Amino acid sequence: MSTRPLKKILVKVSGEALAGDHSFGLEVKLLNIVATQLIEIANSGVQVAVVVGGGNIFRGMAVAAKGADRVVGDYMGMLSTVINALAIGDAVNQNGGKSKVFSNLDIPLVADNFTVRGARAAIEDGSIAVFGGGTGNPFFTTDTAAVLKAVELDCDAVIKATKVDGVYSEDPAINPDAERFDEISHDEVLRRGLRVMDMAAFAIARENNLPILVYALDSEGGLPAVLEGTARSTTIA
Ligand code: UDP
Repeated sequence: MSTRPLKKILVKVSGEALAGDHSFGLEVKLLNIVATQLIEIANSGVQVAVVVGGGNIFRGMAVAAKGADRVVGDYMGMLSTVINALAIGDAVNQNGGKSKVFSNLDIPLVADNFTVRGARAAIEDGSIAVFGGGTGNPFFTTDTAAVLKAVELDCDAVIKATKVDGVYSEDPAINPDAERFDEISHDEVLRRGLRVMDMAAFAIARENNLPILVYALDSEGGLPAVLEGTARSTTIA
């Protein structure tokens, strides 16, 4: 089931993973970990794009559950992903790399509007392209944005940086005996009803035979080890 070598990748970083031990906000240490890992793989010649979540700041569904307007809440959620994208882009620059931040919400004062053309040009030029603003539509998630952008940019895989080191049969935080998979097919994920991504995102990945690799953001060797195939991670292909 090998998907390597990976020459063009889309890394999905959840907002939650950037909050570290806190439930809210950004942990600078984690931003620097993400940035240095991204720079290392970009320097090795891999084309790198990143989609960032916003769950560490705001989720539309959470406020809708309390009676607020879901659409307004989702725009607030998308704006939080732009904040995170700016933070990752800046961390890349501060750590000696080259980044370009794009947004799917039109806010040209803070980021370039996303276009496939612009994103392709950036990654072909060796920049790390960081996408905020999700899909630009309420009722979606940044997982869907990640898969869509990976397909649009013809990436070899989506690499999902999370708090856990792969895909499990159940939440390992709840059941420590849950089975962990090194490799699993898209169909088997569906058959077992495993939650790797939301259904819309996963369906697009499956339809386009897009491999998904899941690893823990703070794992040993990090992203470079995932690309080498030596990290603890799950490959869905
Ligand atoms: N969101 C949205 N449309 C998108 C992507 C995100 O409306 O295409 C909103 C939604 O409210 C979501 C929030 O932005 O809860 C943060 O995104 P997500 O939950 O995917 O972040 P993550 O869980 O990856 O941190």
